[in-house]
Amino acid sequence: MQGLMQDWPLLCHTILDHAARVHGEQEIVTRSIEGPITRSTFRTVRHNALRVAQALARDGHSVSDRVATLAWNTDKHMEVWYGAMGIGGIYHTLNPRLFPEQIAWIINHAEDSILFTDLTFVPIVAAIADKIPSVRKVVVLTDEANMPQTEFGAVSYEAFLDGTDGDYVWTKVDENSASGMCYTSGTTGNPKGVVYSHRSNVLHSMMATPLDSLGFAANETVLPIVPMFHANAWGIAHAAPMNGTKMVMPGAGMDGESVFELLSTEKITFSAAVPTVWLGLLQYLEETGKDLPDLKRVVIGGSACPRFMTETLEGKYGVEVRHAWGMTEMSPLGSLGALKPKYSGLPMSEQLDIKEKQGFAPYGVEMKITDDEDNEQPWDGETFGRLKVRGPAVASGYYGGDGVEQFDEDGWFDTGDVAHIDPQGYMQITDRSKDVIKSGGEWISSIELENLAAAHPDLVEAAVIGIAHPKWDERPLLVVIPKEGKSPSKEDILGFMDGKIAKWWMPDDVAFVEEIPHTATGKIQKTTLREQFADYTLPTA
Ligand code: ADP
Repeated sequence: MQGLMQDWPLLCHTILDHAARVHGEQEIVTRSIEGPITRSTFRTVRHNALRVAQALARDGHSVSDRVATLAWNTDKHMEVWYGAMGIGGIYHTLNPRLFPEQIAWIINHAEDSILFTDLTFVPIVAAIADKIPSVRKVVVLTDEANMPQTEFGAVSYEAFLDGTDGDYVWTKVDENSASGMCYTSGTTGNPKGVVYSHRSNVLHSMMATPLDSLGFAANETVLPIVPMFHANAWGIAHAAPMNGTKMVMPGAGMDGESVFELLSTEKITFSAAVPTVWLGLLQYLEETGKDLPDLKRVVIGGSACPRFMTETLEGKYGVEVRHAWGMTEMSPLGSLGALKPKYSGLPMSEQLDIKEKQGFAPYGVEMKITDDEDNEQPWDGETFGRLKVRGPAVASGYYGGDGVEQFDEDGWFDTGDVAHIDPQGYMQITDRSKDVIKSGGEWISSIELENLAAAHPDLVEAAVIGIAHPKWDERPLLVVIPKEGKSPSKEDILGFMDGKIAKWWMPDDVAFVEEIPHTATGKIQKTTLREQFADYTLPTA
């Protein structure tokens, strides 16, 4: 027997329609690129999104066209996302931290038909304007008064919208149609295109809503610091309007002082960003002696959240830290580290042990860990294996058929991460599968060694890579940057680590460097580091 319920397609415009109808006066506050703080509402954003759709249709863009954005988190960026989806098109976020040639490569791979850019990134567009033939128009997200002269015939957002009145009916498409695109930053190999659907975006917003997840409600105010150009802004640009949550958009201001200003003037209750941003805020608080009276919760992910960060935010400032793991391919939420009730009475140090893990999967994410022969491994909190996932907001392939080897016939996507999962479902990332060090047939977690070494008081940063070894295949090499004015010895650093890990995990050598290479999303670039140390011989070899 079939259920007798309506077939109500899960289309992204329904989110903004709902927000405008039920939470129309709810604010979106933006630190504008031009400087001043501006205030809009969900009703106005919807109206302007309809105007964007109208203008796109007028210019001949239609279903499945890719609408590229090179922009910070602002109300205008949201309008372009929803306007693009509203014509049945696809918002395609570009990461401005990539090299201009990489950005051009991605635009050409996706064959974007129009490009919206913030004033900040006009020089990037100028550098690639003659290398992106599919782009028919460039729109600068500003008004006529602030519009610069460009040699590539760009128009202002104001001019682009001129003559539109918002009298437009959203284009109806199938809920499985593409809605958005984002390329992985290519930590390994060429960037690969992830293609979201209307259905996956809507379901992902529902997954982000519960209190144990990111946690959205009409009486909360969210500051999405995680950029819309990185992993779909962790779903916030959809989940906030879905729940009528006030949004405060940081624009280009991600330094400690700018973040603090918004946190206090707009009384932000929760926020989400990578560890580097919180590091900047903590330094600012330390220097100024300021406090965080309104902030209740922060979600920290993208790379591992260091223990001291959780300890300081929770212990000193009373802000709950929720450690999260995810990836572009998962829309991106994969797991979140809310404390289960059985842990709430534990002393701080034991709670921190749990919060160092990346948390448990929300409904809609299935997880398993496997060995190299695809045998499923137990959830005992010790055995680690390749982390595989599936769910309605997990990629089923990459644009253009790239990376097929990461997907199997049962629908499991190999994340490229290595992890263990404990009996309570808390997952902990121990490595990327390409970075794990295979020593004598056993695996050594490079991340665990890095975290341990980085806690040494005289070091700024630590990275660990595997170096070829005649007897053990590979052995760990620890690469470190000492703090200014400090010169810890190799023995000193290894002595610090001794006793805290298994003997056979101890690095065979320590190399001192001035710089460790990073990717555009702030992760250690192990490929480059391995090239740098390709001819290195370990003293034990
Ligand atoms: P990439 O940088 O590879 O293009 P993403 O920005 O989507 O892609 O990053 C996804 C990867 O980031 C994950 O596969 C994982 O390795 C890492 N990551 C994300 N969150 C965490 C976390 N909380 N702890 C450790 N690693 C994380």
